[in-house]
Amino acid sequence: MTTFNLLLLPGDGIGPEVMGETRRLISWLNENGDDRFEVQEGLVGGSCFDAHGISIQDETVDAAQKADAVLFGAVGGPKWDDVDYDVRPEAGLLRLRKDLELFANLRPAICYPALADASSLKRELVEGLDILIVRELTGGVYFGEPKTITDIGNGQKRAIDTQVYDTYEIERISRVAFDLAKKRRNKVSSSEKRNVMKSGVLWNEVVTQVHAKEFADVELEHVLADNCGMQLVRNPKQYDVIVTDNLFGDMLSDIAAMLTGSLGMLPSASLGAADAKTGKRKSLYEPVHGSAPDIAGQGLANPIAMIGSFAMALRYSLNRVELADRIEAAIASVLDDGLRTADIMQDGMRQVSTSEMGDAIIEALGTEG
Ligand code: NAD
Repeated sequence: MTTFNLLLLPGDGIGPEVMGETRRLISWLNENGDDRFEVQEGLVGGSCFDAHGISIQDETVDAAQKADAVLFGAVGGPKWDDVDYDVRPEAGLLRLRKDLELFANLRPAICYPALADASSLKRELVEGLDILIVRELTGGVYFGEPKTITDIGNGQKRAIDTQVYDTYEIERISRVAFDLAKKRRNKVSSSEKRNVMKSGVLWNEVVTQVHAKEFADVELEHVLADNCGMQLVRNPKQYDVIVTDNLFGDMLSDIAAMLTGSLGMLPSASLGAADAKTGKRKSLYEPVHGSAPDIAGQGLANPIAMIGSFAMALRYSLNRVELADRIEAAIASVLDDGLRTADIMQDGMRQVSTSEMGDAIIEALGTEG
C-alpha cells in the first residue's frame, strides 16, 4: 500500500461544490482501494482573502511544494471585483503556478461516446476522441520583452510583443510531451510556424534533437500550427499528444476542448520540472472552468471536470494509470445511463444535481471494481 499526499484547494463559487464530490470519491477509495490518500486542505482565492486579506498564504504554497499533487477548484467572483490587484483571487493561482514553476499545461480532449452528439462535429469524427495538448505555459510572446506601445508621431502608435524561446524551454516541454506519449499511444505532433517565425525554426530543431537523443522510440511528426488547427476540426483522431508553444497552445487547446462539449467536462493539469533525485514533477490539477458564480450554491455544477482532474493526477503524477482508467470508465458509464447535470442536459436524459452525479460515479466505480 502506498500513501499519497494530496493538497485540496477548493477556492470559490462552485469550486467547493465540485471539490466536495472529488473529496467523497477519495474517501471512498481510502475505504475500498489499495492505496491511502492523505488529504490536506487550504484556502485560496476570494475565500482566502476574506479570511486573511491575501489570496494565498505562504504555508499553503509550502504545502503545495511538498504534496504529491495539488487539486485546485476555481477562484474568483463579483464579490472580489474591487479588491487590490495584488490580492485579487487569481493572484493565488498565479503565485502557485510561478512558485511551483509549472511550465507545462496539459489539456486533454476526451469525447465520451454518450456526448458525441453534443459536439459541433459529426459523431464519427469525435466519438472515442482522446487527445492531449501540451502547451508551454511560462514563456513565449505572452511574457517576452520588449512588450510596449510607443507613440511614433503623426498620430501613429507602434505595438510590440516579443516571441522568445530559449533552447532549455523547448527541451523541457518536449521531454514532458514525449514522456506522456509513452503512457498513451506513443505519438507526438509538434506544432509551430517555422515557415515564418525564427522561434518556430528553433522549436522544430530542438524538438527533433530531443527526440533523436532521448525518445527515438516515440513517433514524432511536425505540423504547422495553422494546419494543426485545421486538422483538429477535420480529423482530430489522427492526434495523440500535440506539443506547442504558449500562444498556439492557447488557441489549439480551446479548439480541441470545444470538440467535446461543455466546460463542466474539461479537466487540466500543469506540471513543473522533474526532481533530479526522484524524477517526480510538481503538479497542479484543475478543471478548465472558473467559479461559475451564476450557478454557485444551487447544486447545478457539473463535477466531472474536477473528478476528471483527479483522474489525471492519478495517471500523470501518482502512476495509478489503471485507477485513472477505472474512474474515466465510471464517468462514461454514468453518462451512458443517461444521467446529466444541467449544463449537458439533452432530451430524454435524466437531470441530476452535483451530488447525485458524484454519487452515481462512486456507485459505478464500486460496481465495475
Ligand atoms: P466560468 O467558467 O466560471 O463560467 C462560464 C459558464 O460556464 C457559466 O455560465 C457557468 O455557469 C458555466 N459553467 C462553468 N463551469 C461549470 C460546471 N462545472 N458545471 C456547469 N456549468 C459550468 O467563467 P466566467 O463566468 O467567465 O468566470 C467566472 C469567474 O471565474 C470569474 O471571476 C473568473 O475570473 C473566474 N475564473 C477562474 C478560473 C480559475 O480559477 N482557473 C478560470 C476561469 C475563470
